[in-house]
Amino acid sequence: MRSLIYVATATAALLLQLPAWAAPLPPALAETENRIVSVAAWGGTPADPAKARKHTIKHITLHHQGEPFPEGKDPQLYLRNLQTWSRNTKHWLDIPYHYIIDLDGRIYEGRSIDYAGDTNTEYDPTGHALIEVVGNFEEVQPNQKQLDATADLMALLAMKYNVAPATIHGHKDYSAQTVCPGVNLYRYLENGYLRDQVTQRLQSSLPK
Ligand SMILES: [Zn+2]
Repeated sequence: MRSLIYVATATAALLLQLPAWAAPLPPALAETENRIVSVAAWGGTPADPAKARKHTIKHITLHHQGEPFPEGKDPQLYLRNLQTWSRNTKHWLDIPYHYIIDLDGRIYEGRSIDYAGDTNTEYDPTGHALIEVVGNFEEVQPNQKQLDATADLMALLAMKYNVAPATIHGHKDYSAQTVCPGVNLYRYLENGYLRDQVTQRLQSSLPK
């Protein structure tokens, strides 16, 4: 019965372009959402809503940190420093990305997904859900935990915001000024791996 209600609600959401969160999330995607480490949990502070630009998610866009992230570096301290730098040096609302994935595949909340992101390059990130994976993928390979977490998070966002896996791209697809997300992570967009993994997660979360 629950699954019938889910199908009916999800279908209505797709047909009527209702916000997809009108439907309860399938268990596997709810599990992903529940393991996201909140801003409060990593010791960050919320952004000032008065300065925020609201937006509607239409794309999912992958970034890398672009700097080495050595084993043993504290991801929560990294996030607190990134938040301070973003606000005090860049004069941005907050961390430019909505989600950050560490070396262990833990997913952290960054800027509120309700607010448009920021960038040093010329594209407009309004409407993009921005995911950063720590490390410099011009130099190192993403590990399997990072790839799995990236696919889990992308599937959650695709379902929640009612956007197709075809909207998943890398930063450099929008800007010629960057190599982000780095050749070794971009490979998994180029060869269709991440979109396929997201499609599989969405299909397997539908009731049989
Ligand atoms: Zn980027």
